[in-house]
Amino acid sequence: MAKVVKFGGSSLADAAQFRKVAAIIKGDASRRYVIPSAPGKRNNDDTKVTDMLYNCYRAVCEGRNPKDEFMPIAARFNGIIADLGLELSLENEYKKIIADFRKRVGDDYAASRGEYLNGIILAAYLGFDFVDAAKVVRFNAKGEFDADFTNASIAGVLGNKDNIKKEYAVIPGFYGATPDGKIKTFSRGGSDFTGSIVAKAVKAELYENWTDVSGFLVADPRIVENPEVIKVITYRELRELSYMGATVLHEDSIFPVRTAGIPINIRNTNEPSAAGTMIVRTPPKDDVSPVVTGIAGKKDFSVIHIEKDGMNNEIGFIWRILGLFETLQINFEHLPTGVDTLNIVLATSELNKHPDITDLIREAARPNHIVVEQGGLAMIAIVGRGMVQTRGTAARIFAALAHADINVRIIDQGSCEFNVIVGINEDDFEKAVRAIYNCFALS
Ligand code: ASP
Repeated sequence: MAKVVKFGGSSLADAAQFRKVAAIIKGDASRRYVIPSAPGKRNNDDTKVTDMLYNCYRAVCEGRNPKDEFMPIAARFNGIIADLGLELSLENEYKKIIADFRKRVGDDYAASRGEYLNGIILAAYLGFDFVDAAKVVRFNAKGEFDADFTNASIAGVLGNKDNIKKEYAVIPGFYGATPDGKIKTFSRGGSDFTGSIVAKAVKAELYENWTDVSGFLVADPRIVENPEVIKVITYRELRELSYMGATVLHEDSIFPVRTAGIPINIRNTNEPSAAGTMIVRTPPKDDVSPVVTGIAGKKDFSVIHIEKDGMNNEIGFIWRILGLFETLQINFEHLPTGVDTLNIVLATSELNKHPDITDLIREAARPNHIVVEQGGLAMIAIVGRGMVQTRGTAARIFAALAHADINVRIIDQGSCEFNVIVGINEDDFEKAVRAIYNCFALS
């Protein structure tokens, strides 16, 4: 049996947090493979080590002395080592990092050292082997993640549930290396992804992702007071919610475990007795899912309204517009259509890439009428596997919005039937999320 356990930066911010982490790991012998982040913030005014490293490297590139700049970072790690009472010195590691900074090895390398050094400390504290992610997590020469190579090399070093090669190990998150040894990182928050690829490679029974919240919440706690924790959510539901702004987990980290059918359990290092959220491929047989699993949304969308007489009969009209979008590399979100009308909903940042978009659409598709509504639109996704074949869900959503005096501008129900998306004025965003939450929380 093997579980992969990933601890985020706040779980490893100082020695007291390290102690909690060790107690969690030692509390279950199947927690074999540990993925640490770099130390995070100890309080609101603190700086994450990863940010310190980026800043430090930037300062070095601007001509500052690497040794001086690196000192506060070394002090942070030395503080943890001393507080844990470890017989460990990282002085040689620091020297190498400073020398590498002098050689301008790149900011990916710089940022990765937070996970690397934290991994060495955690391995020493737990008495586990340390496996440098640069040896097992591979990017190709173009800098793209090489999933097959990585899967095979992690399995080669750690083994899998039928053939364990290393019983216990710490593998730092967030980075890997290209074939010539150059360090490359995933995007920010990427240790979640490392955890997922390790879980897949060792065929783990479970991927536990330990953070500072007791799971995914039904709605954003900055908007809804004390929202409930989601007990079970499917990967598909989660994908819809995270795409719409619910962030606990790095977006890409779902994919490796999802294909392997390994559940993810979001847990809270500061409240280890809480069951957290289980993310699963298929809901359990005795699933008693609520109608709405979660609500998430984002602001700052725009709409392009296009009208063309006889659009319904003109073959290729939408294709011409989307072809233009491909050429211009504009991403859009939704495409509600009427008989002779087409609305394109897109993030305002995408729209802003091409201020001349109206002219370009006119040229490409010759519509009768085109209006761009720049910004001001918010989109809310109401997601729930319990909605499938439950009558009246949409009615309840729209009644809740109507009672809150909110005008619905766009409606889109995913063909999967477990996702209703509504577009409303940005100013109504918080009110709308609360109205929908209250309507379903009281059910
Ligand atoms: N330390 C990295 C970051 O702050 C990666 C991670 O924590 O997952 O983004």
